[in-house]
Amino acid sequence: TQAHLDAIEKARVLNAYVLETPDKALAMAKASDEKLAKGEGGPLEGLPLGIKDMFATEGVRTTACAAILENFVPVYESTVTSHLWRDGAVMLGKLNNDEFAMGSSNETSHFGPVISPWRRTGSDARIVPGGSSGGSASAVAASLCLGATGTDTGGSIRQPAAFAGIVGVKPTYGRCSRWGIVAFASSLDQAGPFARTVKDTAVLLRSMAGHDPKDTTSVDLPVPDYEAAVGRSVKGMKIGIPKEYRVAGMPDEIEALWRKGAEWLKAAGAEIVEVSLPHTKYALPAYYIVAPAEASSNLARYDGVRYGVRVPGNDIVDMYEKTRAAGFGPEVRRRIMIGTYVLSAGYYDAYYRRAQQVRTLIKKDFEDCFAQGVSAILTPATPSAAFGIGEKVSGDPVEMYLNDIFTVTVNMAGLPGIAVPAGLDAQGLPLGLQLIGRPFDEETLFSLAGAIE
Ligand code: GLN
Repeated sequence: TQAHLDAIEKARVLNAYVLETPDKALAMAKASDEKLAKGEGGPLEGLPLGIKDMFATEGVRTTACAAILENFVPVYESTVTSHLWRDGAVMLGKLNNDEFAMGSSNETSHFGPVISPWRRTGSDARIVPGGSSGGSASAVAASLCLGATGTDTGGSIRQPAAFAGIVGVKPTYGRCSRWGIVAFASSLDQAGPFARTVKDTAVLLRSMAGHDPKDTTSVDLPVPDYEAAVGRSVKGMKIGIPKEYRVAGMPDEIEALWRKGAEWLKAAGAEIVEVSLPHTKYALPAYYIVAPAEASSNLARYDGVRYGVRVPGNDIVDMYEKTRAAGFGPEVRRRIMIGTYVLSAGYYDAYYRRAQQVRTLIKKDFEDCFAQGVSAILTPATPSAAFGIGEKVSGDPVEMYLNDIFTVTVNMAGLPGIAVPAGLDAQGLPLGLQLIGRPFDEETLFSLAGAIE
């Protein structure tokens, strides 16, 4: 813990942590040492972790990296983090993310952008860590914690994991409780772990997962021993390669990486088959209707009355308007406006209902594929390697949204997905592969990712 606290202090330039909690960390570490000395302790005893600032932490400021929550100190602990502390983990601090987890580069945070520890060969230009869990990805990649939590609504664990050359897991919707996580799009949000190895993510997920009566969408299923799945044979498994993911303009390097991944799995005894997910091309536009719609509803609670910052006004409506104008950044405002529009009378049927229908078709594509005996689907995690700070954030927002092209389908269908590092591009930046699994079959993903790693 002390070594990690020292490393965090030296690496503040990365802006990965928005709050360091050294006193708490050292007290937790001491308690762990005492337990371990007595031969006691949980499966994570003494392991120092970073927590994405979307998770409510009791008595520790939790902001979602939004101005409107700048002063919010929860009086409760999220279920996922309480599981980590129950199992002995140590909290180093809270990690930066895009404001309300809306973004793909961690450049929309109220606390400023996160910098990746990676650089292009021969260049000092600063690179984005991906988003929205950019602080988590950067901190794990730079060894500023052993593991970290993330949330993934449309790729926010898998895309930054791929950009930072580490492992990130988005479990099946319902596997981890959403209780105590700042809500973005409730039907898509799911918590998951980041770490430097597949095994480490397996150990962390086992602790994070589990039924919680406080989240009605959390499922009452036993949590398997994920660690035991790492290293298990993948012989005879059928792995699908979806032809629709060969998108126009995909760089050759990404194609080559994808082929290499398939070859690795073949060498491990898996059978590679081409599959079709015909509605893939509608996933991104449908996601960018469903997610803002739910966000506009979830974010209605930030009114200056119950939570966070209040800007005084002449009357209550004036106070709401001033508070929300000052409290939300441009990307969040854009989402609230799009979401409100697509839910409005007269537009609901054309946009929101249509997007939900598309979502059902996307889910069915995957079901059809799994019904053919496919155990998992292999895709690239992202359509490119990480880009430079400032390169995409101020232009057409759709440019940024295109980063999520391979990851949002998984959230739309509620499936588990894992991003695993698979090599470097010609400029020396990491590239990742994604494996998509059957509902609640994270174990197969851990076995397959272990074979790629
Ligand atoms: N880039 C996606 C978005 O901005 C991802 C969000 C997420 O997974 N939290 O909506």
